[in-house]
Order: sequence, then C-alpha cells, then structure tokens
Amino acid sequence: MGFRHTPFFELLDAVQAGGCPLCRIVNRAVRRYLEATLYEFVNDAGMRHRVVQSQGFCAAHAALLRQMGDGLGVVLLHEQVLAGLSRGDLAAVLKAPAAPCPACATAAEWLDHSGGTLLASLDEPEITDYLNGRPAFCLSHLRWLARHARSRQQRKQFAEIARTTAEHLYTDALTFTNAANRSDPNRPDLTPEEKTVWLRILDFLSGSPA
Ligand SMILES: [Zn+2]
Ligand SMILES: [Zn+2]
Repeated sequence: MGFRHTPFFELLDAVQAGGCPLCRIVNRAVRRYLEATLYEFVNDAGMRHRVVQSQGFCAAHAALLRQMGDGLGVVLLHEQVLAGLSRGDLAAVLKAPAAPCPACATAAEWLDHSGGTLLASLDEPEITDYLNGRPAFCLSHLRWLARHARSRQQRKQFAEIARTTAEHLYTDALTFTNAANRSDPNRPDLTPEEKTVWLRILDFLSGSPA
C-alpha cells in the first residue's frame, strides 16, 4: 500500500471532482504558475530568459494569459524576446525556439508528479474503485499512464479503460446523431447525459480545457 500523503489527497480530490483528474491537477498547476509569473516574476531575469528561449508561449497557454488580462505583465514578459528578434539577423528570426513553452514544461513536470502518485496508489481502495467504475481520464493521460505503468498488467488495464471509454462514447455518439435526424419520426429523446456527448468526446480526445 502506498504512503497516503498530501499529493495522494490532492489526487483523490481531483478524482472526486469529475473529469480527467490528471488534466485537473496539471491545469490548476499551470494556472497557478502563470499567475505567479505575472504577479511576481515578470522582472525576474531567469523567467525572462526562459521566455526568450521559448520565444513566448504556445497558443493554448497564451489563451490563458489572455484570460488573465494583465496587459503590463504580458508586455514585460515579452519585451526581451522582441528586442532579440528585432535586432537579430534574418536567419535568427526564422530559427525555431530553443526551448518549449515554459507553461508546457511546467505541465510536463506536474504530469510526472501526479501521474506518478496515481501509479503508486493503484492498490488504494479509492483508486481501485475509481478505476473499476467509469474513470474519466482523457486519452492522452491514459497513454501516459500506460507508458509509465509498472507492470504489463497495469499497462493493459489503462489500455482497456481507453477502449471502454471510446466504446461508450461511440454508442452515445450514434444515439446523438440518430436523435439529430429530423426526418426520422421515431428519433430517440436524449437523456441529459447523452446530450453532453459532444463535450465528453472533446474531453476524451483533447483533454479538459485549462
Ligand atoms: Zn487528462
Ligand atoms: Zn504551452
């Protein structure tokens, strides 16, 4: 039995909150990271250097920065990269960034952390129950878990969860398209859950929104 510590209880909270628990933990950590960056680190030399290396943020994390609405923070964070690009020669302008988006790097660290906690807690009763029910992992995180699984049996369990989730979504997708067929007088009425299939498809294949 794994050691029940703070990361384990954070994982349990995420499991109980619904949606992909790993998306939830990673998204929350990234949001905190970007908030801290804007409010405390816009003038930090290390942070500015990181943004120069990555030439800004990826589109998904830039969307989060937009939501946060801190214009001055965004400007200060990006001044140096613009200075470099505007002063460099033409070949330098076309060169790909030397490092990934800093928020993506943070997301990867938190996935290692929370995914590792989950894999270490597979024999905890709450986690066992969750995995045996209808777990809401996104496909990308199921693949991560399968890749880092500690046994062939664990790997198979995550692959099976992925297939079963796809199967349920496919069934609901067929019902949804049938219900949308206005020329069919016997088209089924959708349950509230069936009506959300399009959102659940996006959550499964693309992950929960940040
Ligand atoms: Zn996920
Ligand atoms: Zn990113």
